[in-house]
Amino acid sequence: MKKTKKIKEVNVFGRVDLKAEQLPKEYFNILPLLPEKLAPPLDPRTKKPLKPKALEVLFPKELIKQEVSEKRSIRIPEELQEQLLQIGRPRPICRAKRLEKYLRLPSNVKIYFKREDLSPVGSHKSNTSLAQAFYAKREGIEKLTTETGAGQWGSAVAMATAFNDMQAEIYMVALSYEQKPYRRTLMELFGAQCYSSPSLRTKSGRKILKQQRHCTGSLGIAISEAVERAVEQENTKYCLGSVLNFVLLHQTVIGLEAKKQLMQLGEEPNEIIGCVGGGSNFAGLAYPFIGDRLKGKSDCRFIAVEPETIPTMTKGKFTYDFGDTAELTPLLKMYSLGHEFKPAPIYAGGLRYHGLAPTLSVLVKHGIVEPITKNEKEVFEAAKLFVRTEGITPAPESSHAIRAAIDSALKAKRAGEEKTILFNLSGHGLLDLQAFKQFI
Ligand SMILES: *Cc1c(COP(=O)(O)O)cnc(C)c1O
Repeated sequence: MKKTKKIKEVNVFGRVDLKAEQLPKEYFNILPLLPEKLAPPLDPRTKKPLKPKALEVLFPKELIKQEVSEKRSIRIPEELQEQLLQIGRPRPICRAKRLEKYLRLPSNVKIYFKREDLSPVGSHKSNTSLAQAFYAKREGIEKLTTETGAGQWGSAVAMATAFNDMQAEIYMVALSYEQKPYRRTLMELFGAQCYSSPSLRTKSGRKILKQQRHCTGSLGIAISEAVERAVEQENTKYCLGSVLNFVLLHQTVIGLEAKKQLMQLGEEPNEIIGCVGGGSNFAGLAYPFIGDRLKGKSDCRFIAVEPETIPTMTKGKFTYDFGDTAELTPLLKMYSLGHEFKPAPIYAGGLRYHGLAPTLSVLVKHGIVEPITKNEKEVFEAAKLFVRTEGITPAPESSHAIRAAIDSALKAKRAGEEKTILFNLSGHGLLDLQAFKQFI
């Protein structure tokens, strides 16, 4: 009796907070549950399967171990748990009550969202940047190099290196370096060195600048520069913000928390929605629930939303491809638009990527994850509605998930179906106001 009353109370506020001691203590690993074995990464030169050891020039040993681990769960070291607490985990789940009201949804169609926007740097990316910096530091690494597009990953890495007393060298796509000066300032405030890419600091950068003096850069070029700098410096490793198995693994704290929260509410989700660039925030929320589906314990649907102009999952090919334009990274078997694909300059910079995480690719191929596309105009309309009803400014990336959640709820209403939707609010858009300004 008491218990039901409690659930009701939470429902009124539409929000569930977990206590610090309810922070997940283990990551959820999807690898042993996948419907088919992952194809091995290939060496970029020989095109032969790559031995995990060959990745040691780039990544800390522990992360390579996680990349290929078949264990169902992997313990989160206590010190790393403390860092996750420090950035505000566990994060709340909220019910979008005012949005539901605006849409005139019947009481059996509900929309919940997970608040990754509450990270100090504004997105889910700090979940893995902290883990990557932590494991690197434990192995005596002093510096991390990386690339960043719009700057969300760069600022997450800058915070993580500051927390772990390390240095960071970040290559930011030249166009964003000019257009998004505040993210650069944020990185520098954390003590990171941030360079416009292509730069004169690397062979690959100099080569491109020689051909094209005013090159505005790309993620592919910035990756090449960061990789080159990691290889040539002592005690330096490279870090990556999406796609790899260990990145998605670190993000599963999102879904593990969400599962506990929905259980407290007495809710079972019918549909889980996330936006997809490389796939990490979607996987982070969905994988613990997909685990149940793969074990035959649930029939929840999983909807992955990508931009109409970058249709990796809906129009891409499932094939081996490079992660970067310069063909320096190992080849991964994944859905891809081709590593030479030039993504349209949409505002959702975090979704401008040609490839897709290999584990997510397998789940899409087997129909367990259903991909859909949304166009920029309808996405911004959804963002506007979300600001006006819920008071939160969503990242343009996350707004793809909001659009899908709204459309799905309205569909359920028309069909007279019951539905409980959960979507991932992967980040806030307070540093994207320039984009919103142009939209208005
Ligand atoms: C980077 C980013 C994304 C896309 O990356 P995924 O790896 O697909 O999650 C989505 N939302 C936000 C807010 C981001 O910063």
